Amino acid sequence: MPIYDYRCNKCSHLQSIFIRNLKKKLNPKCETCDSNDMKRLMSKLSPVKNDTQVMDSLGMPNPSGSVEDPRQIGRWVEKRFEDYGMDVPEDTREMIDAAREGQFPDPISDI
Ligand SMILES: [Zn+2]
Repeated sequence: MPIYDYRCNKCSHLQSIFIRNLKKKLNPKCETCDSNDMKRLMSKLSPVKNDTQVMDSLGMPNPSGSVEDPRQIGRWVEKRFEDYGMDVPEDTREMIDAAREGQFPDPISDI
């Protein structure tokens, strides 16, 4: 069920409205001042992303070691190479195999 955020043009009150029926035209009303002058916000105000969320959004495995399934690392690396239409290099393949056996690769040090 989608939730739309609206802001009242009169009192700037922010309000989230459940959309129960997408076909029905909405006529949101400010719960604070009863105004019908509501503006729909196009995107939800999201909190500032932390590093982990940024990593997630980039499709990177979490480097802090909290990856629960080591196979995810291998899958991610393979996917990256597939994306570039490349074969996985030998040494990278070894790293993936090691990860699949439960050995995490060394964290990437400062370059
Ligand atoms: Zn209002």
